[in-house]
Amino acid sequence: MTSSPRSRSAPAVQACEGPARKSTRRGARAGPAQPADPARSPGPSPGERLGLRSDWDYALHLPLHYLDETRISAIASLRDGVAAVVQARVVQAQASAGVRRQLRIQLQDASGTLNLRFFHFYPNWQRQYPPGKLLRVRGEPRAGLFGMEMVHPTCHAARPDEPLPERLTPVYPAASGISQAWLRKAITGARARLDVREWLPADLLSRLRLPDIASTLDVLHAPPPDVPLASLDDRSHPGWQRVKFDELLAQQIAQQQARLARAALRAWPLPARNGPQSLGDRLLQALPFALTPDQETCAAEIAADLALTQPMHRLLQGDVGSGKTVVAALAAAQSIDCGFQCALMAPTDILATQHLRKLADWLEPLGVSVAWLSGAQTRRERDAAAQAAASGAAQLVVGTHAVIQEKVRFHRLGLAIVDEQHRFGVAQRLSLRAKGLDEGLAGGAGDGVREPHLLMMSATPIPRTLAMAVFGDLDVSTIAHLPPGRRPVRTRVFDEARRDAVIARVRVLVAAGRQVYWVCPLVEESTARPTSPLPAHGGSGERRGSAFTPAGGEVLDLRNAEATHAELQATLGNDAERVGLLHGRMPASQKAQVMADFAAGRLRLLVATTVIEVGVDVPAATLMVIEHAERFGLSQLHQLRGRVGRGADASECLLLFTPPLSEMARARLLAVRDTNDGFVLAQKDLELRGPGELLGQRQSGVQMLRHADLHTDIALLEAARDAAVWLLHHDPGAAHEHVQRWLGGRLDWLAA
Ligand code: ADP
Ligand code: MG
Repeated sequence: MTSSPRSRSAPAVQACEGPARKSTRRGARAGPAQPADPARSPGPSPGERLGLRSDWDYALHLPLHYLDETRISAIASLRDGVAAVVQARVVQAQASAGVRRQLRIQLQDASGTLNLRFFHFYPNWQRQYPPGKLLRVRGEPRAGLFGMEMVHPTCHAARPDEPLPERLTPVYPAASGISQAWLRKAITGARARLDVREWLPADLLSRLRLPDIASTLDVLHAPPPDVPLASLDDRSHPGWQRVKFDELLAQQIAQQQARLARAALRAWPLPARNGPQSLGDRLLQALPFALTPDQETCAAEIAADLALTQPMHRLLQGDVGSGKTVVAALAAAQSIDCGFQCALMAPTDILATQHLRKLADWLEPLGVSVAWLSGAQTRRERDAAAQAAASGAAQLVVGTHAVIQEKVRFHRLGLAIVDEQHRFGVAQRLSLRAKGLDEGLAGGAGDGVREPHLLMMSATPIPRTLAMAVFGDLDVSTIAHLPPGRRPVRTRVFDEARRDAVIARVRVLVAAGRQVYWVCPLVEESTARPTSPLPAHGGSGERRGSAFTPAGGEVLDLRNAEATHAELQATLGNDAERVGLLHGRMPASQKAQVMADFAAGRLRLLVATTVIEVGVDVPAATLMVIEHAERFGLSQLHQLRGRVGRGADASECLLLFTPPLSEMARARLLAVRDTNDGFVLAQKDLELRGPGELLGQRQSGVQMLRHADLHTDIALLEAARDAAVWLLHHDPGAAHEHVQRWLGGRLDWLAA
C-alpha cells in the first residue's frame, strides 16, 4: 500500500477521448499564460481548477503514468491485458439498440481482426467510420467471445503515413472537463517559457546520482521510448528521485527558514527559581511519587528553554500514561514563579477537565489561583474566568479552545501549553501564540513584542524521520519509559462470535468490584463532514481523508452505544445501575458527571464512544473491551488501551472483531496484541497507513508532500536536510525561489 505513490489518488483521467475530440478543441483555447476570458467562461480556468497558476506550477504538474504509443502492434500479436496501439481499417461499424446501446467497430489489419466496443458514443460516429477507413486506436485488448476486443479505446482516423510519437505519452492528473491534450499543450508551453536554472552543485547531484533539473523535467514530461516504463511507474527512475528530492528540499528549507524566523522572536525569560521556596520544588515535595529519569530530563530541557529570551517551541512526547502532565505542571510552576501566567489548552472538555482536576489538586494547595474556561460554561462563568485571565488574578488558565477565543485576554502570558497538539488546527495554535502579543501585556515597552513560550504535548509518539520532516523546526523532549510499577496490559483478540464469553468476563470483574471500559465502534460509512473545529475523535483506519469522526457518524455511534448499554445492563442484573453511558452528544456537564461517577467507583462499567480516547485517568479500571476493533486505527487502539493499566493491578484489553478482516485490519490487531510500546506501534502505523493518518489530517507538513514518501524516502530526506543548510548559506535567493516553486501557496502550514 505504501508503495503506491500518493499522486495516484489524484482525479482520474478520462479513459476515452472519443473520436470526435470535442473537449480537446474547446479546452485548447485557454493556455496558462492567458486565462480564459472571465466574461465568456465564468469560474476558474481549467488550470486554476487543478491549482496551477505559474509556469512552474505547470512544469511541476507531473504525469501519473505514461502510455507507450511509439510502436504499432500487429493485431495478431496483441496480448490479453497488455495495452497497445493498433492501426487498422474498419470492416464494419454497427450500433445496436437494446438495454445497453453499444457501437461495435470491427477492424482488420494484415494479421487479423479486432473488435472495438463503445457504450458511450455519438450517433454520427458510425457515419464517421465507414468500412475501409483507417483508424489508429489505443487500448487494452481483452480476449473476448469473438476474439480480441478493446472496450472504449482512444481512437482517431489516421493517415497511412501519420508519424508515431517519438516519446512516451504522459498522462497527467486532471479533472473532469480538462483534457489530456489541453494539459500537454499547456505544460509544453509553460516549459518553453521557463528559464530552468540548476542551483544544486554538480558534485552533490552526482553523489546522490540525481540528474539536473532541466533533464529531469524533459525526461518526466516526455520520456524517450527506451526508458523502462516500470521505473517511471514505480518512481525509481532517477528523474523521479530528483523530483522527490527537490520537494523534500523545499520543505526542509522552509522549515529552516521558520526556525530562523523564530530565533528572531523575543520572549520573556522565565528562569527557574531553585531552592525550597520555589513553586516547582514545593510541587515536587508534595507529589506522592518521584519523577522518573525521563521526566527529569524533559523537565530540565523545558526549564532551560524557559530561561531564554527566545520563545520555546518544544514538543513533549510520551506514550499514554507516561506522565507528561506533571512535567507540564513544573513548567507552569516555573512561569508562575516568575510572575507570569500560564495557559493550558486541551482539545476536548473531558481532557481539559482532567487536567484541571489534576493541576488544581497539585497547585492550588501551594497558593496558585487556577481558572477554568470552557465552551460548556454559562456565560457568567466564562466571563468571570476571562476577567480573571485579563486582570492577572488567574495564574493558571486551563480550558478547551475557549481559551483562544478572541475575547480572552491575558495580563502577562508567559507560557502556553497545548495538549494533544496535533488535534488542534494550525490557526488555533497560531492564535494561542498570538495571545502573548496583546498590547495589554505588561512589561518593559520599547524592546519589541514578546511571544509566550510554547510547549506542545503529544501522546502519539512520532517516529524520528517523521518528526524531522514535519516538525523540523521543533525541539523534541521524549519520555520514553513509563513510571515504575506499571504492568503491561495483556491484550487478546476475539471474534465477535465469542461476545458471550467476553460479556461473562466483564460480569465476573464487575461483581468483584473492578472497573471496566466498553468502547463502541465508529460507524464506517458516514459521509457527513466534521462540523466542530475541534473534533474529539480519531479516524477509523483505512478511509483516507477522514481523520475525524464526522458529526453525522456520532448519531449512529450513539445508537450503537445505547443498544450496547442496554444489552450490558440486562446481562449485569444486580449491578445494572452501575453501568454508565458516555458519548460525544451529551452536554459537557453530564459527561463530566458520568466521568466523575466512574472515577469515584459509583459506576463500574462505562459504555463509551471514542470520547474517552484521550487523557482519561482512572487507575482502578482494569479491563477494556473494544468492539469492532477492526475499525480503529492502530494508534487509536493503543491510545484507548492506555486508559487501563494505570494502576498497580494487572489489566487486560479485549479486542472484538467482526469477520471478515482485511489484511490491514488483521495486521493492526496483531500488532496491538503483540506490543505495548507506543513507539513501535507508531512506526508500524506509519508503515501501514502513512503519515497523514498517524498525525491527523490537519497535520499539514505531510500534506505538502505530493511525491516523496516519508516512509520510503528517508535517505533522500536526510540528504535534503543537509542540502537545505548548504543552499540557504550559499545561495539564499535560490533557496527562497526553490521553496516558492515547490510549496507556493501552501506555506502557511509551516508557520504553526
Ligand atoms: P500522560 O502522559 O498520558 O498525560 P499522565 O500525566 O496522566 O500521563 O500520568 C499518568 C499517571 O501516572 C497519572 O496518574 C500520574 O499521576 C502518574 N505518574 C506520573 N508520573 C509518575 C511517576 N514518576 N511515578 C509514578 N506515577 C506517576
Ligand atoms: Mg495526558
